[in-house]
Amino acid sequence: MNCPHNLYIHVPFCMSKCQYCAFFSVACNNPDWKKYADNICSELKFWSDKLGKIKIPTIFFGGGTPSLMPVETLEQILKCIYDNFDVDKDCEITLESNPKTLDKTKLSEFVSLGMNRLSVGVQSLNDEELKFLGRIHNVKDAIDLIQNAQNMNLRVSADFIYGLPNQDENSVINLCQNINKIGLEHVSMYELTIEKNTPFRRQNLKMPNNETMAKMYNAIPEYLNLPRYEVSNYAKPGQECRHNQNIWHGGAYIGIGRGGAGRVFMNDKWYEQMGNNEKFDEISNEIRAVEKIITGLRTILGVRLDEDIKNQINFDWVKNHSDLVVVSDEYLKTTKKGMLFLDDIMVDVIK
Ligand code: SF4
Repeated sequence: MNCPHNLYIHVPFCMSKCQYCAFFSVACNNPDWKKYADNICSELKFWSDKLGKIKIPTIFFGGGTPSLMPVETLEQILKCIYDNFDVDKDCEITLESNPKTLDKTKLSEFVSLGMNRLSVGVQSLNDEELKFLGRIHNVKDAIDLIQNAQNMNLRVSADFIYGLPNQDENSVINLCQNINKIGLEHVSMYELTIEKNTPFRRQNLKMPNNETMAKMYNAIPEYLNLPRYEVSNYAKPGQECRHNQNIWHGGAYIGIGRGGAGRVFMNDKWYEQMGNNEKFDEISNEIRAVEKIITGLRTILGVRLDEDIKNQINFDWVKNHSDLVVVSDEYLKTTKKGMLFLDDIMVDVIK
């Protein structure tokens, strides 16, 4: 029997495109959901034929805007997963949401289908900033959704963006203090990056400089009352996102739907895979080890120094840069300072 795989299902539709967004999604609030669900189900069946009725420890609906899905669509997809795989009893089932698209009734219907973790795209606690980002919700919509989810005993996470034009360290301190009042157990804090082919790219925005960005990043763990467990993620111990943790630590997962991507482990070999059956290529153990180093060093735990990982690391460089990375308890870990230079570290730490 092949090993357990986590499932990522991509939902590539949004009400409208946000100004900064480079994710694979299209603005379309009335897609053909039946066709979408049928396609997702045929992909799921393809993988269960290939891998057998493998164990599924987590399912993650990401996007795009998965909360746009009608209840029947989520129901059809989850039923197909349960029919074709061996879903863990305590499977973590996360759904990403846009606060404008999920009212209390729909949320409780999603919960009755088995969704047990909600990720809310809050992004800002300031209505003007939300407008600037091109978000369709306001602060009240986001807080209402979080409270509804908390009242239903869901595990709740919220995403925020910092580093907007004119923001400084105090903006982030203020944001963290306001987040603390909401009582969240999991928060993702993303720095605003201006990606190619986005409306923001064409606006020539005056972004905070690197020094200000570093101060903002360092202020987060000081003022947010949740510990950091990954470069952008903070959680109460035990409330970490198991789905993403598995990916960062090199586990196997399948990406379903156009825009989804995975790393499949089958008959002792690794494969790079893309949803919509667009790609399925064997990758060498060396490439997989390099990927594990890149994602592992993003986490506070670090990357475990197994033989295949050790073979890819430039230990001379590591020895001379103990301010950025350290070896401890058979793990290579990024230091607090190193978290600010992850991209540079990856270039040098790998042979
Ligand atoms: S809701 Fe998310 S995926 Fe959709 S356009 Fe906005 S940032 Fe992109």
